[in-house]
Parts: sequence; structure tokens; C-alpha cells
Amino acid sequence: MRIILLGPPGSGKGTQSSFISEYYKISHLSTGDILRSEVNKGSDLGISAKKYMEVGDLIPDELMIKAINNKILNLSTGFLLDGFPRTLNQAQSLDTLLINKNKPIDKVVCLKVNKDEIISRLLSRAICNSCGNNYNLLSSPPKQKGKCDSCGGDIITRSDDNKEAISNRLQIYEEMTSPVINYYDSGKRCFFVTASDEPQNVFETIRKLLDK
Ligand code: AMP
Repeated sequence: MRIILLGPPGSGKGTQSSFISEYYKISHLSTGDILRSEVNKGSDLGISAKKYMEVGDLIPDELMIKAINNKILNLSTGFLLDGFPRTLNQAQSLDTLLINKNKPIDKVVCLKVNKDEIISRLLSRAICNSCGNNYNLLSSPPKQKGKCDSCGGDIITRSDDNKEAISNRLQIYEEMTSPVINYYDSGKRCFFVTASDEPQNVFETIRKLLDK
């Protein structure tokens, strides 16, 4: 199974990706996680990406496509892409890559959440610096303050979860990622899911869609 999960920042892509990839036993590729790990390592890609990420801008297509293509090609299992593609150019290049390998995308799931809820979720979000696990400090904080429930890593606030960067990220989503949704929707590959409900219920809706 080859799936793309789209949705604005804060729509729960990370949480749903974990549920989906575990349930269907497929690889989860999150471009945000990949880039954050490169930033932590201080690699050339990380150094180039950091300045864009901090203010909520997209990193240039050329860098992003190069970084993800090899990871996709090296996979021997199905996969779920989380946070990629985010521009029309990325979507078209992904289709070319996969169609050439005779492994087209099966389904695209697009999460929908209203803007006020997104902002409130992002302002109370924290992540594990080691494994990337997501927490909401108000509704689902880690059991031990500052430590990840899964791996014991440090819980941090993302540098782009501040009001200015959030507003920029939402605007970029409208401008750059909406055409991606239209692209998949016009090919009848896109399924929309309201993601304001409890995460487990949202996953149930997605599972029914994917099992069809
Ligand atoms: P995310 O964790 O998905 O919210 O991504 C965090 C940041 O990583 C984004 O705000 C961008 O700066 C960068 N990023 C992630 N995925 C992409 C992508 N497909 N294209 C360009 N930049 C990306």
C-alpha cells in the first residue's frame, strides 16, 4: 500500500501516520522528521534547511526532492508519506518517479481541521527530540514532565511552533499545498477526513477508507 497523508500543520498527520503505518505495517516517511534529524546532525542538508524551517518557509523543491527520492526508492515495503508532497512540482516529480517504477500512489488522504483549532493545537504542542513523538501539553502531556513516554528522550517545543511561523505555515499551506490537493482530487485519488475528533476515531474513519 502506498499512501500520502496531506493536511495543514497541526491537523494530526504525525499521530495518524503512526496509527496507519503500524496497522498496515508500512514505512512512515515524514519529511519534517527527516529534516529535523538532519538539522540535529548538522549535515549540509540540515544546515541549508534550518533557516527555512525556523520561519515556517518550505525548503526549496530541489533540495527536498533530492532528499526524499532515494529514501522512497530504497524502500522494500509499502509506505506512507507525511508532509510530502507540499508543492505541485513535488507532486508531479513524485508521480514521475513512482510511475517509472510501476508503483503508483494508491490513495491520498487529506485531513481537515478548522484554523482556530489548528492554532490552539500548535501553541500547546511539544515533541520528543529523539523519536519525534507528539504531545499536547494541555490535553495529553507526557507522564513524566519533560520526558518522552516512549523513549525517555527530552520533550521540546518546536522552534516553528510560535505565532509568526504558524501564521506563515498556514498561509503557505493555502498557497502552495492547496494546488497539490486539487491535483490529486482531479485524478480522483483524494479522500477528505474531518480530523477534529479524538485521534482514535479519526483513525477508524481513515482505516475504513483505506480498506475500501
Ligand atoms: P512538518 O514537520 O511537516 O510541519 O515540517 C516542518 C518544516 O519542514 C516545514 O515547515 C518546512 O520548512 C520543512 N518541510 C517539511 N516537508 C517539506 C516539504 N515537502 N517541502 C518543503 N519543506 C518541507
